[in-house]
Amino acid sequence: MSSYLFQNALLVTMNPGREVFRGNLLVVDDRIAAIQKNEARTEETLARTSAALPPPQRIEASAYILLPGFVQTHIHLCQTLFRNHAEDLTLLDWLRKKIWPFEAAHNESSMRTAARLGIAELLAGGSTTILDMGSVHHYHAAFEEAEQLGIRMVGGKCMMDAGDEVPPGLRETMEDSLRESAELMAQWHGAARGRLRYAYAPRFALSCSERLLREVGARAHSEGCMVHTHAAETAQEEELLLKTKRQRSVPYFKTVGIAGAHCCFAHGVQLHEAERQTLALDGTALAHCPGSNAKLASGIAPILELRRAGVKVGLGADGAPCNNNLDMFHEMRLAGFLQKLRHGAHAFPAQHIVEMATIVGAACLGWQRDLGSLEIGKKADLILLRRDQPHSAPSDEADIYAQIVYAAQARDVYLTMVEGRVCYQNGELVGLELEQMLARAKQELQQLLQRTDL
Ligand SMILES: [Zn+2]
Repeated sequence: MSSYLFQNALLVTMNPGREVFRGNLLVVDDRIAAIQKNEARTEETLARTSAALPPPQRIEASAYILLPGFVQTHIHLCQTLFRNHAEDLTLLDWLRKKIWPFEAAHNESSMRTAARLGIAELLAGGSTTILDMGSVHHYHAAFEEAEQLGIRMVGGKCMMDAGDEVPPGLRETMEDSLRESAELMAQWHGAARGRLRYAYAPRFALSCSERLLREVGARAHSEGCMVHTHAAETAQEEELLLKTKRQRSVPYFKTVGIAGAHCCFAHGVQLHEAERQTLALDGTALAHCPGSNAKLASGIAPILELRRAGVKVGLGADGAPCNNNLDMFHEMRLAGFLQKLRHGAHAFPAQHIVEMATIVGAACLGWQRDLGSLEIGKKADLILLRRDQPHSAPSDEADIYAQIVYAAQARDVYLTMVEGRVCYQNGELVGLELEQMLARAKQELQQLLQRTDL
């Protein structure tokens, strides 16, 4: 059983009192076993807590901020290879001209490499949990990579049995879509000691038949798993839905039984007031993706209005080809800037943004009892953040949340731990040879491009 003692760190706990203090944190096996403020008789108490255990590995952390790992509520690991290959397009063109043909050209090996590259970037940047939407095929390879590299993942294969201009490699029948989802669910829901979970992932309302969506709504309820989909991302999508289904995304999803605390919708840029109230009343969560929304020129989501209505709003980088990275620091910073442009400089304090990236993100996944804050008994999903770099100095404790949101960068992450296991430390990803992986990614991309006719 492994055990770590982080000593003299500046703890940004994100606990209910949002306490920030200097102290020690003991990890035993997969959980946080003790937390002590420095003024308390720390050594003594910790010694009692760990008396029956082998001596913990001590990590001197006085130069670091210790905070919960980031929860990214919308990611597409399958798209990581397409980074910088789908530029200057709006959503539907971006999908139809680039992303769908690329995804259709995936084989198991390219999917595996895309997932590995994405997970490496996420862990190195302090993200410990993701809600991931896969592509239609080969999704087991993403789960296998998550299992091996140690990230926590809720994910599902993408479901697409309808829609215009969907390439044959992605178009599936409803029966195949449900069968393949059920097979993945049976194998991965609760796997790796519960670190991996399955989610139904219909792509969006336009790419799924109503029958499929109704079946997903019913199955997710009875099987107790999440549904993750895109909703109200662009005005064009909402217009098309109005034409074909006579409803906009949120009411349509509710009609087919996709609403509630087990559902997380990505984007919500186009949400009307009544739809925001619907999300709040149903407990449906929203993943805000400011980088993706800005780059595809989809618009600025009404995040402060959603939060005021009581909607759980998390943050996510979306896919590498619409961002072009998976960096929570970028998303936090941009989320702050965009809402300040809409509501004024006084709006949206940095603490609220760190909440979205941690404890509220965990709540979006229904996992807040175990994740999202540094509290005794919770899972040991945490990061150490350098605070002695030129871009973040002088680092006193005036506004630690502003430091995290506006000054810190992904390269300041010194250590990333998930479930008590060190996955990344000081530039090294545990169990992954970086240069070899980067060479492989390049090679897989070239081969994938040859398989498309783009
Ligand atoms: Zn997306």
